[in-house]
Amino acid sequence: MIETKPMLPGSIRRGGVGFVVGPVLLAGSLVGAATPAAASHGAQANFILAAVPPLAEAESGGEPTPQPRTTGPIAKRTIGYSVQGRKLVARLYGSPAATKVGVVIGSMHGTERGGIPVAKRIEALGAPAGTALWVIRNLNPDGSRINQRGNARKVDLNRNGTHIWAAKARAPVYYPGPSAASEPETRAYISFLESVKPDVVLIYHQHGNGVDSYRQKNAGLTKGLAKRMKLPVKPFNCDGECTGTLTGWFNTTQAGAALTIELTASVNTKKVNRWAKAARWSVGYVPDVNR
Ligand SMILES: [Zn+2]
Repeated sequence: MIETKPMLPGSIRRGGVGFVVGPVLLAGSLVGAATPAAASHGAQANFILAAVPPLAEAESGGEPTPQPRTTGPIAKRTIGYSVQGRKLVARLYGSPAATKVGVVIGSMHGTERGGIPVAKRIEALGAPAGTALWVIRNLNPDGSRINQRGNARKVDLNRNGTHIWAAKARAPVYYPGPSAASEPETRAYISFLESVKPDVVLIYHQHGNGVDSYRQKNAGLTKGLAKRMKLPVKPFNCDGECTGTLTGWFNTTQAGAALTIELTASVNTKKVNRWAKAARWSVGYVPDVNR
């Protein structure tokens, strides 16, 4: 696996997965890079799986369950650093030549870590054929470490974005920070998503129990994902209007579709497997808008 440096403003990039993948990297991936060490930070809450058992225990019936990959990611990029200096890491699976690109973000609120095992399960399954899939397990490692929603400065990263950022906070839990994109975690996701230009971005939260239809960009994606996840479609409108959210920023400035997913409070192996398969489906389903 190759560790790439954070993208600098104005650095060269290409279509598809967002950076040049050369033959050396490909050769490296073929020798079977080890599965990356678990990147979770700090203690896991009771409702979080410490480890996801093998797929043999997955539910049966329905679509065939993809077999787990035996190799690790084909690339690994540090997309930035948290306030306390922890690496924010994106791992790439699938075809480096693919123009159909998905991004999955396991967690951005430190008290909502149920998407992290889903992200890891997606990593174990890899990307659907002909696609590229980036997985960010955790955008808020500082908050996760101390079971805090916000980052180390108690900023809600899903209110700190640049899309209709609002200083007026329903504080303290939704504190949006001193200014739009004031936090390094926010700047990291912005530069990363601008560079890889995904067709779809899925962001997991808890525990609203639904797939978000609030200002959705692709209704078929919302509906299809909800069906496959066995979650209802719900409009999560932040009690009025959502300000400074990742989804709002992405859907108004980028070509692809971002979707907020509110998982259930309890997470188990069966759900993790179902949700991971649904996420892989979404990458195949969405149109290739950045060809
Ligand atoms: Zn959340």
